[in-house]
Amino acid sequence: MIESSTAVLRFWGVRGSIPTPGPSTLRYGGNTTCVELRIGSEIVVIDAGSGIRALGGSLVREFGAKPISLSVLITHTHWDHIQGFPFFIPAFGKNNRIRVIGPQSEPDGLKGVFEKQMDGSRCFPVTLGMMSAQISFDHLDKDQGIQFEIGDVKVTSCPTNHPGGCLAYRFETPAGGIAFLSDHETGGDDELRILEFIKDAKILIADAQYDASEMVARKGWGHGCTDDVVSLAMKAGAEQLYLFHHDPTHDDAFIDGMLEHAKGLVCQFGSLLQVQAAAEGCEISI
Ligand SMILES: [Zn+2]
Ligand SMILES: [Zn+2]
Repeated sequence: MIESSTAVLRFWGVRGSIPTPGPSTLRYGGNTTCVELRIGSEIVVIDAGSGIRALGGSLVREFGAKPISLSVLITHTHWDHIQGFPFFIPAFGKNNRIRVIGPQSEPDGLKGVFEKQMDGSRCFPVTLGMMSAQISFDHLDKDQGIQFEIGDVKVTSCPTNHPGGCLAYRFETPAGGIAFLSDHETGGDDELRILEFIKDAKILIADAQYDASEMVARKGWGHGCTDDVVSLAMKAGAEQLYLFHHDPTHDDAFIDGMLEHAKGLVCQFGSLLQVQAAAEGCEISI
């Protein structure tokens, strides 16, 4: 069992859709989805967007010549969630063990998508097979949530409302639940199931890509609206909400505005919910 509250969460990529480097995204960051979660001795990486490249460098500096063992939980195989994997240096270390876990992806399977991304010619010069680490792939049912364990960490999956399917994940820590809900379009007919999944989460990281005016023209794109996400978090009794999967067209100032709007909604309803916008480099001890 995990003895103490030693969970640490680090944001390595908080952007959706495509990396957006440059001076206008310096504060929140431009890398696509990648979150590191340390619970006890377990290293869990959520998604392999472009943010995983810097995480890889950090792990190599931390472990030196010692073997690295970790799990990479994939929410779904849209580009912005797997494009960093070819640049994940620990995957090239022959003493390292990487367990990739994610939803079954038809028709190629999860491993097949990773192989296609690294085909050695048209898409990328290096193949998956040239990565020297022991890499295994485990499939999860993409249509229904299940409970499983990574070491001592209890994890629950939950299908989200997203084109092609996607899984949200919830982790139980001694200090409370951490729910990762990206990519998810709010307002679908699965809202009750999602509410139950994120109920009383200590930390909820949720797709809040659009503001209410943008959402009008983007229904069916599979992403959340800030207003709906705040309302969902309040209904679920979450303690802290991190707005996540920032739109590539939103610069730092725009995200500041979305955050202020979200905080205003919380005030209006007299809720105790704490809201932040996820920022690359941010570390949370739980
Ligand atoms: Zn995405
Ligand atoms: Zn997606």
